Amino acid sequence: MPIVCKFGGSSLANSEQFHKVKDIIESDDNRRYIIPSAPGKAKNGDQKVTDLLILLYNMAVHKLSSAEVMNMIESRYREILNGIGIEFDLKTELDEILSYIASGKVSKSYVLSRGEYLNGKILSAYLGYDFVDAKDVICFDENGTWDEESSYKALAKMQEEHERAVIPGFYGSTPSGKIVTFSRGGSDLSGAIVARGVNAELYENWTDVSGLLAVDPSVIPHPKKIKNISYQELRELSYSGAKVMHDEAMFPVIEKNIPVVIRNTNAKDDAGSYIMADVPEDAEGEDITGIACRKGFDVINIEKFRMNRDLAFHRKVLSVLEANDIYLEHMPSSIDSISLVIASKYLKNKTDQLIAELQTFTNADRITMDHNIALITIVGRNMKNRIGTSAHVFSALAAANVNIRMIIQGASEMNIIVGVLEEEAEKSIEAIYNASF
Ligand code: ASP
Repeated sequence: MPIVCKFGGSSLANSEQFHKVKDIIESDDNRRYIIPSAPGKAKNGDQKVTDLLILLYNMAVHKLSSAEVMNMIESRYREILNGIGIEFDLKTELDEILSYIASGKVSKSYVLSRGEYLNGKILSAYLGYDFVDAKDVICFDENGTWDEESSYKALAKMQEEHERAVIPGFYGSTPSGKIVTFSRGGSDLSGAIVARGVNAELYENWTDVSGLLAVDPSVIPHPKKIKNISYQELRELSYSGAKVMHDEAMFPVIEKNIPVVIRNTNAKDDAGSYIMADVPEDAEGEDITGIACRKGFDVINIEKFRMNRDLAFHRKVLSVLEANDIYLEHMPSSIDSISLVIASKYLKNKTDQLIAELQTFTNADRITMDHNIALITIVGRNMKNRIGTSAHVFSALAAANVNIRMIIQGASEMNIIVGVLEEEAEKSIEAIYNASF
């Protein structure tokens, strides 16, 4: 069974990185399907090619000259081509992108996808692998929703026709040929889809760190590395702000139980972190696997005496949110009050209107708001079977003099989420980390 390898932007940022990637691929004959990102940052101060493409597109839309930006993009690929020494008609490829942009016929997604497209073409020539355009195997419907069934069908066919291939990450297309991209970082998802589609024995996600860290290293220097983690824990951590993998990248591999490993292109012999369905029991293992944090939340507190006697109360609250296109993050409650935890970006200038509507519709006694809330998510599969994890967390926060604004724990007992003021987030993480590891 093949191994599917996704290489992130920093792994393919320049020709030196391309050499490392080739070396890695050639050291295991099973590494047969390769998913590249666009060139990312080779060093501090570099721009990601995807960011340059966004700028290129925006300049074109505003009828500004995009020549300078195109030169920057070109020089990134030129350096790669010169350094790996292969023949490649870059000029024609770039002219094609420019003429499409000039014709006004292409979408932003098309322009953005060219970073991966070009990197894929160059990498396939360098490796001697077939090039398979992602537009032919990653399928979307005409609304831009990823089409699982068609993608897997196309990938199965691709596998019959190509023993080894490079398939660019990040994009696919609709039946009418329109290019669609995933959200940023979406090559992780492309890699997972290909892994599932070709029934891979392993999905290797090559990046610039030797695996997952238990906490953000900018908060805790040199944190503990995570050796093994379950799919669900990873999903919780990445959704909760850990900069690991695209938060939806686990869905395709979960279904087939395909293990994922995160490895370092710049330290290829490091073991990395394994992500799987069932992590082997480790009686000595910590209660907590990792800690993540997201800032930028507001909390709307609705109080109404005997709220629990109003059968329709929650429905009314949720209807108001739905009618205003506002996503709800959490809804902790007590007997006569509930709190709506909402990302501030959804509220923007809707707050007054929203509160007025909630007031009218629910006939609440009082509605108040808290701003600048950070949600700290403490994730750990072992919590469920052990006593004292939350005691640890809360006493650490008390000792650090942090006022906890909110506590959320679902019945799955996979995580504990605490809401604190944003300015106390780092102090809180430090306290929880030091008490847990
Ligand atoms: N190149 C895209 C981005 O920068 C997709 C990816 O790297 O996964 O977001």
